[in-house]
Parts: sequence; C-alpha cells; structure tokens
Amino acid sequence: MPIYLYKCEKCGKVFEQLVMKASEKPKCSKCGSSNLKKLPTTFGVKMGASGSGGSCPTGTCSLG
Ligand SMILES: [Zn+2]
Repeated sequence: MPIYLYKCEKCGKVFEQLVMKASEKPKCSKCGSSNLKKLPTTFGVKMGASGSGGSCPTGTCSLG
C-alpha cells in the first residue's frame, strides 16, 4: 500500500497518509484543511540516513 507524505499548505504540518484509493483526498490532521502538497516519500528516508555521518563540515566529502 502506498504511503505518501503530505504538507499542509495552511498550517505547515507534515504527516504521512496511507492512501487506499487514488481518488481519496486526505485532510490535515491538525487543522482539517484539504489544501495539501504531496511530498516525495524519500524525504523521510533521507532524514534518517543523514544522522549516521556528521564528520564532514561541508557536507560534500561523501561525494568523492
Ligand atoms: Zn493543517
């Protein structure tokens, strides 16, 4: 089942939403607005992976 990341354009809350049907539109769990922006799901993965390193001061060392 696809899980999407949404950001509420109204209050800025970011949340994951499991989408059963493509026609189904999620609502913000905080303010109830349906004005949402879909984010790529890799966003969350990147956040977790970046925490393991951290010795490079510029952030470009891993590139080569
Ligand atoms: Zn909201």
